[in-house]
Amino acid sequence: MTNEKDVVVVGAGYAGVTAARDLRDRGFSVTLLEARDRVGGRTYSRKFKNREELMEFGGAWIATDYMPNIAREVRRYDVPLMQSPDLTHYRFLIEDRLSMFPVPPDEITALERAWLAIAGAAERISAHLPLHMQPLADLDVSWAEFLGPLELPPATYDFYTAALSTYVGGHPHDFSALHTLGCIATLGKSPYNAFHGVLVDKFANGTEDLLHRMVDEAGIDLLLSTPVHSVRQDDNGVLVTSVEGDTFSARVCVVAVPTNTIRQIDLSPVLSDAKAAALAANHPGRGYRVNFLVEGAPAGFFALGWRAGLQMVVTEYQVDRNLALMSAFGAEGLYPLDPTDREQVQKALDPVLDGARVLEVDAHDFNADPFSDGTWRINPPGWARRFAKTMNEPEGRVFFAGSDVSFAMLNGWMEGAVDSGHLVADGVAAYLTHRSA
Ligand SMILES: Cc1cc2nc3c(=O)[nH]c(=O)nc-3n(C[C@H](O)[C@H](O)[C@H](O)COP(=O)(O)OP(=O)(O)OC[C@H]3O[C@@H](n4cnc5c(N)ncnc54)[C@H](O)[C@@H]3O)c2cc1C
Repeated sequence: MTNEKDVVVVGAGYAGVTAARDLRDRGFSVTLLEARDRVGGRTYSRKFKNREELMEFGGAWIATDYMPNIAREVRRYDVPLMQSPDLTHYRFLIEDRLSMFPVPPDEITALERAWLAIAGAAERISAHLPLHMQPLADLDVSWAEFLGPLELPPATYDFYTAALSTYVGGHPHDFSALHTLGCIATLGKSPYNAFHGVLVDKFANGTEDLLHRMVDEAGIDLLLSTPVHSVRQDDNGVLVTSVEGDTFSARVCVVAVPTNTIRQIDLSPVLSDAKAAALAANHPGRGYRVNFLVEGAPAGFFALGWRAGLQMVVTEYQVDRNLALMSAFGAEGLYPLDPTDREQVQKALDPVLDGARVLEVDAHDFNADPFSDGTWRINPPGWARRFAKTMNEPEGRVFFAGSDVSFAMLNGWMEGAVDSGHLVADGVAAYLTHRSA
């Protein structure tokens, strides 16, 4: 094998682009292969259907005070940010009751008790040490198991379940509480910050803006519309072959694709038993994000409630007093729906929208998209502590990166993706520097 490049990176999301950029900064030659006709992966910004407003269809919100990796990139490339509008009209659909406060007065002490339990558990977590290095196995249980011993009254249980199922895009039995508690630990140890409070900043020109700047400034050799079919390695290097049959040889390959899609790539030699076990089943993070134009909803509207089809609604642009562009979030496992079907979306939102009319919907279905096969990774119970450790072990000349495999507490976020990109670039650079081949 004659190696054309030092490194081939597969996947041009936040992790792959960061890894490629860091390696270029160190003087290595890099080819970046991307299956889609755009960079960004599970982030995706474009104008709302037939309108001028730029909206996010995947990852959107950042909090630079709590996300040092994103903050550093924003500063380095001088990327403009904007803020979501102030939310002033809150509705909670808890136990089929629509109210402006999450629970009835006789459950407020239970609400506080649970809040303290969640904040107390997050307090045990160091935001800087990988989860597998911390004595937290008792928290690597399902959210339902975590809440169980608190014996919460119905509305309070409903409220926390609504908040969490929206947050992860899954059923409370299916995901590890440790994931969310780690996010809370990082976002100022505050459940409010993590659920919503600090997530207001967005990229003014869309999430791809930063990635384009990274690619352009570093002069990365980027090939779009090039899905990878196989990665073969021997003692001398790697050979990456696209679905079209084009080949790319290098000393090392970084696979920076969503973990649900790794199995689509024919890896030779095959993955270790540990990785094969970790990847045997899809992760349960299968959320929906639906953007919609709505008439007649209160200005600055926010709603939460898991018994509605879509569990969280948040205003993105208040067009005028009567018209707004909003985003709603749901979970495939809780309420299956076609996020591009206006009537289905209206029906799912009726319980919280109170007579307001959905005029148009626009969405990208990341669950149906073969290059993501899900939304942001959520580890099942028992896997929050060991998944990243398992996946970060290189397989010879093949390394893995992505928000899904990040050691950062904000794995599953853009912050985790950038963190993972840095880490894999460090590992690859050390490997290339100390191997002569
Ligand atoms: C609806 C939604 C809402 C979200 N909200 C937020 C939020 O508000 N804030 C936040 O920080 N994060 C959010 N996230 C999560 C965030 O978007 C992701 O964690 C992050 O963008 C993942 O980056 P990545 O580089 O690890 O993976 P990806 O972005 O998935 O990039 C992987 C790339 O690999 C490519 N690929 C896949 N298979 C192949 C192949 N065979 N050959 C070549 N290329 C391939 C894909 O096309 C993709 O471009 C959200 C995600 C979704 C879907």
